[in-house]
Amino acid sequence: MSAISFRNVVKRYGAGKHAVQVIHGVNAEVETGEFVVIVGPSGCGKSTLLRMVAGLEEITEGEIHIGGRVVNRLEPAERDIAMVFQNYALYPHMSVFDNMAYGLKIKKVPAAEIKARVDKAAGILELGQLLERKPRQLSGGQRQRVAMGRAIVRQPKVFLFDEPLSNLDAKLRAQTRIEIQKLHRELGITSLFVTHDQVEAMTLAQRMLVMNAGVMEQFGTPEEVYHRP
Ligand code: ADP
Ligand code: ADP
Repeated sequence: MSAISFRNVVKRYGAGKHAVQVIHGVNAEVETGEFVVIVGPSGCGKSTLLRMVAGLEEITEGEIHIGGRVVNRLEPAERDIAMVFQNYALYPHMSVFDNMAYGLKIKKVPAAEIKARVDKAAGILELGQLLERKPRQLSGGQRQRVAMGRAIVRQPKVFLFDEPLSNLDAKLRAQTRIEIQKLHRELGITSLFVTHDQVEAMTLAQRMLVMNAGVMEQFGTPEEVYHRP
């Protein structure tokens, strides 16, 4: 069974004669544990595709399945996903621990369980010594790792990354890319990662889903995509 399945997925924005179709029937199967990069030029529909998986955008036609369940009608919170954005706003008045714990507290996860999950995530992300700090006492890279920690503790089936590196300077971008690779190696969570940057895509992807003008043009390993006869 695939982790994520796109079945004839169509997206139109607007209604009636003002409707504009921006996704034209995407079919793709993402395997469990795979790291898939959705890549293509600005405006080709990457973000829309990801937001439909996340439940932030309605699916006009077709179906998206996560872990075998049709998610078209499910709220974001019911989809077993966690999303990492480029603007990873942390709560400024909360400690690192509380920033990571907040989503679980709302879901009424028991305190001992919260502590165990946050400690584990902090271990993976090397935040163990920083749990009592406030965001303003952290470097940019550390803040980014807290944002990823917040996603990890939810133990999602799927990670969604929406251009998380695009606002970072070159050094931090390289650092964070390595963090994301490490995270995927250690946790093996199925991931969809959106970028317009071909080099980033090639570096991170196990498979690349290449979009162009709302159409999925290719879906293969970087070797398959770049060495097509
Ligand atoms: P990408 O992420 O590849 O830059 P998007 O998914 O953001 O592409 O956008 C795909 C197309 O859909 C673009 O033409 C964009 O202008 C359009 N679009 C995105 N969001 C909306 C919206 N809320 N309403 C109408 N058109 C939209
Ligand atoms: P990105 O390319 O990073 O997705 P954009 O600047 O294209 O960012 O879009 C920012 C926001 O504006 C998104 O929520 C998107 O859905 C919305 N948007 C994009 N294009 C349009 C459009 N043509 N009409 C209405 N909303 C749009």
